[in-house]
Amino acid sequence: MAGAKSPVREEKLRLKGKVAVITGGTSGIGLATAILFAKEGAKVVIASRDNEAGKFALEQIKSNNGEAIFVKTDVSNEEEVKVLIAESLRRYKKIDILFNNAGIELQKPVTETSNEELAKVIDINLKGVFYGCKYAIPYMIRNGGGSIINTASVAGLVGFSNLAAYSASKGAVVALTKQIAIDYAKKNIRVNCICPGVIATPMVERFIAKSPNPEETRRQLNEIHPIGRIGKAEEVANAVLFLASDESSFITGHSLVIDGGLSAQ
Ligand code: NAD
Repeated sequence: MAGAKSPVREEKLRLKGKVAVITGGTSGIGLATAILFAKEGAKVVIASRDNEAGKFALEQIKSNNGEAIFVKTDVSNEEEVKVLIAESLRRYKKIDILFNNAGIELQKPVTETSNEELAKVIDINLKGVFYGCKYAIPYMIRNGGGSIINTASVAGLVGFSNLAAYSASKGAVVALTKQIAIDYAKKNIRVNCICPGVIATPMVERFIAKSPNPEETRRQLNEIHPIGRIGKAEEVANAVLFLASDESSFITGHSLVIDGGLSAQ
């Protein structure tokens, strides 16, 4: 219309005003998600075991004018997870989003897995998720709701060779996610998990480097995905953002596969 002022186009930040806690937020999928969340307006609490990696993650976020803090946490230690939640609340007053993402890999068949190795994988990959939910949910209830995203894996849905303890831990995360989703749906808390295929992160780089023929391993990992390549951490972060944001407001108890068609075969 002639003479009318053109409207100012405000950028819509998808997590504006939200507070997000991300475990394993110093590397790979967790770091890519922390950076994306901060760009989308969230205040981010990054938790992992390594202070140096924590500093690096904070620098990445702050260089993009994002807001974040680091809380050194071992997610397999219940007391430390309690402190993580308390510290997040002390600093930012609420928790809207919890991304239970910290995890470790173990590439062994059942007959070669020691009890100590099994316990370590379960303590971090499963109990870490359990503790995060246990201590964040009471505050989310008081706050009127929240969104929890747990990192499982396609290995928690279908079989892969030499991943006995890892697959068991991730399958348990899929089941736990559904269970908690049902218990707290009426409290406006949504709980979903992601099931990535092979994603280019330091975890996978370590796996490739340890293999007898790294170049051949890389080629095979690309090839098993119908899309013809392994995924990027940013591609997973985009899916986590969707589950974290209000755009997924009718989705709970879901396991979102992000695997370039790997498990569709
Ligand atoms: P990564 O090794 O790059 O990052 C793992 C993060 O978890 C790091 O920040 C590490 O410090 C943290 N962490 C490990 N143990 C911890 C503990 N006890 N307490 C606190 N933090 C701890 O790996 P990634 O590939 O980004 O993996 C992230 C998650 O995604 C894991 O749960 C992993 O099992 C899962 N996943 C990865 C892939 C993949 O191909 N990369 C596929 C499916 C699922």
